[in-house]
Formats: sequence, C-alpha cells, structure tokens
Amino acid sequence: MKQQFSRLEQLQKLDLEVHELERARLVLPKRLVDLDARKEEVGRKLKAQRDHVVGVEAEKRTLETALRIEEEKLKKGQAKLNEAKNEKEFQAGSKEVDSARRAKAHFEDEILRAIEVVETAKKSAALVEEEAALVTAEYDALAADVRQEEARLDAQIDSFSARREEARRDVDPALLKRYDHIRLKRAGVALAPAQGGTCGACNMGLPPQLYNQVLKGISIETCPSCIRILYVKPSG
Ligand SMILES: [Zn+2]
Repeated sequence: MKQQFSRLEQLQKLDLEVHELERARLVLPKRLVDLDARKEEVGRKLKAQRDHVVGVEAEKRTLETALRIEEEKLKKGQAKLNEAKNEKEFQAGSKEVDSARRAKAHFEDEILRAIEVVETAKKSAALVEEEAALVTAEYDALAADVRQEEARLDAQIDSFSARREEARRDVDPALLKRYDHIRLKRAGVALAPAQGGTCGACNMGLPPQLYNQVLKGISIETCPSCIRILYVKPSG
C-alpha cells in the first residue's frame, strides 16, 4: 500500500505539472493583446492621415482647374480688348480682363497655400508611417517569441503527459478511480499529507483513530473535512 501511495504522490506531482503548463499555455496569447491594440490604433491613424493627403490633393487640383478657367477668361478678355471697335466693346473687354486677373491672383494664392497644406499632410503621414512600422516590428518580434514559447510549452506538456500516462499504469485501478474522482472535485489536488495529526491540505485536525490508521498506511483513508486521500509523506 505504501508503494501505491508513493506512486500516487508521483502521479499527483505530474498532474499538477501538466495543469500548470496548460494554464501557462492558455494565457500566452494574452501577451500580444496590448501590442495588438496599439497596432490597430496606429493603423487607423495611418489610414486617416493618408485619406487626409488624398483630400487636400484633390482640393489643390480643384483650385488648379479654377485657375486654368480664369486664365482662359483672361485670354478671351484680352482678345476682346484687342479687337474692340468702339468704347463700349473696349469697356466690356477691360471689365472681363480686370475680373479675370483678380480671380487668377486669388487662385494663385490659394494654390500656394494648398501646396503647403499638402506638404504638411504628407510629412504627418510619413511620421505615422514610421510609427506604424515600429509597432508592427515590435508586434512581429513578440509574436515570434510567443510562438517559440508555445512550442516549448507544447513539447513540455507532451513529455509530462506521457510520463503521467506511464505513472497511471502503475497505480491500482480502484485507487486511481477514487483519485480521479476526488481530483475533479478538489481543484486538481486529490492527495493530502497527514502531518502531526492534521490534514496537510485543509489543516483540519484528524480524529486520533483515523490518524493512526493513516500512519499504518495499509488502508485508503480520506480526510473527513476535505475528502482528500490521506497519506504519510516518506520521511522528510
Ligand atoms: Zn483535509
């Protein structure tokens, strides 16, 4: 029986080890959450900046079209002026030329301003692009780390699981069944070392008769309080 308890203790260790590894494996992808959010945020910022550049470039083109129209008007006005046959036609031509000149000057100013706006927008977009590249590189590096750690944990889980299956084969089937049953109910821990008359898992004092039975190590005894299987740890 004592040998059975010692095998069960070994199994318990392996079960906890596997449980711990699986838990670590499960929370690993959470390490990427913050960077993933930052990557998405900078991506949105970059799209907004690029859209802004497209917008201000379109405004600049609109102004350039308006300028060409005024240049045409100016040419026509000047032609009218050259061909004027009387005072009335001369007046009309002058008016068109003046108006086109004013409009042309206005659009030329506007275009200069638009060129500055486009340049500023492009510079801002370039900065955000740099930021996005940095965040992406950081994310990729961490993702590679996470994948490596996942592979390492998977290998460990496989190895411990194999050892656990081996350990299970050495335990008496009836005892194993009881062990599994209690383990499910007690957060993965089915064994409790009995020390100094108390249960080492829940710290409840054990009735002296029960404690004596446990010390003998010839029967399967459970803690009346936490129902775990009681055993005596080998000296130490
Ligand atoms: Zn107990």
